[in-house]
Amino acid sequence: WHEKLLGGFRRTSDRLVGNLAGLGGARLDEGTLDEIEEALIASDLGPETAGRVRHRLSEGTFERDMEELGIRLVVAEEVESVLAQVARPIEIDAFPRPQVILVIGVNGSGKTTTIAKLAHLFLEQDYAVMLAAGDTFRAAAIGQLKTWAERIGVPIVTGPEGGDAAGIVWDAVKQATAIGTDVLIVDTAGRLQNKRELMDELAKIRRVLGRLNPAAPHDVLLVLDATTGQNALSQIEVFKEVAGVTGLVMTKLDGTARGGVLVAAAERYALPIHAIGVGEQMGDLRPFDAREVSRIIA
Ligand code: GDP
Repeated sequence: WHEKLLGGFRRTSDRLVGNLAGLGGARLDEGTLDEIEEALIASDLGPETAGRVRHRLSEGTFERDMEELGIRLVVAEEVESVLAQVARPIEIDAFPRPQVILVIGVNGSGKTTTIAKLAHLFLEQDYAVMLAAGDTFRAAAIGQLKTWAERIGVPIVTGPEGGDAAGIVWDAVKQATAIGTDVLIVDTAGRLQNKRELMDELAKIRRVLGRLNPAAPHDVLLVLDATTGQNALSQIEVFKEVAGVTGLVMTKLDGTARGGVLVAAAERYALPIHAIGVGEQMGDLRPFDAREVSRIIA
């Protein structure tokens, strides 16, 4: 997976060094520092991180004729310091059980696959897991989640296409409580094009959950497709408003991802990043490790 992940990134500092190649060992004057800062922002690193890198490079603690290694190190250290603040695995600690994890995100972001990956992960940690097919707008979504549930070997509560998502969630919590399920993972519709309806539906799910367990949902995970770059940031904005996000999972970091967006998201929203998706199989979810990811990005 490490190779896969690495393959998905064109290192920010590679781009930077490429940009600087034309400067031919120029000193880090204001113009060069401007260029470095701009290149970092163009890599989606976020203005604050870019500003800190610039500041450190200008302080002259490194060789004045910047070597590739020096730049890489400074970028990696700054990236790691931002990411370390948000790297946090999902804890299963709700009492009474079940812990209810609501999974939200636009269609195509990798929501269904991420639910399957999380179910697989929790099962491996010996938790009893149940799924609820709360995305009733797409028959394909219900079918796809069902197939995953069978493959992983976890129970799933479904309803008819176009059915009431909150009703499915109600049934699922009742069943999960009855059989002693530790984690209930709830899929939801990702219809961002109809914000009002999405908001109403998520609010209704929350009301139903709250009646059965005032602490639920314990987690509201937003799934983001890293290949969408800056778009992922605007999705955080909208979903924070309509759903109250508690944490992020970034998918498709094995693809042609622009990993810098992780740093921008961390910098701007300070939401926990729980895990990253690095493939289409159920084992392809990695805990988010700030050091590992910063070394790959930078
Ligand atoms: P949903 O519409 O949000 O439920 O998205 P899906 O879970 O159906 O995923 C959409 C597509 O992205 C599918 O083809 C998945 O196999 C693929 N996918 C999901 N996560 C990843 C990932 O981490 N890496 C890669 N390469 N593909 C992924």
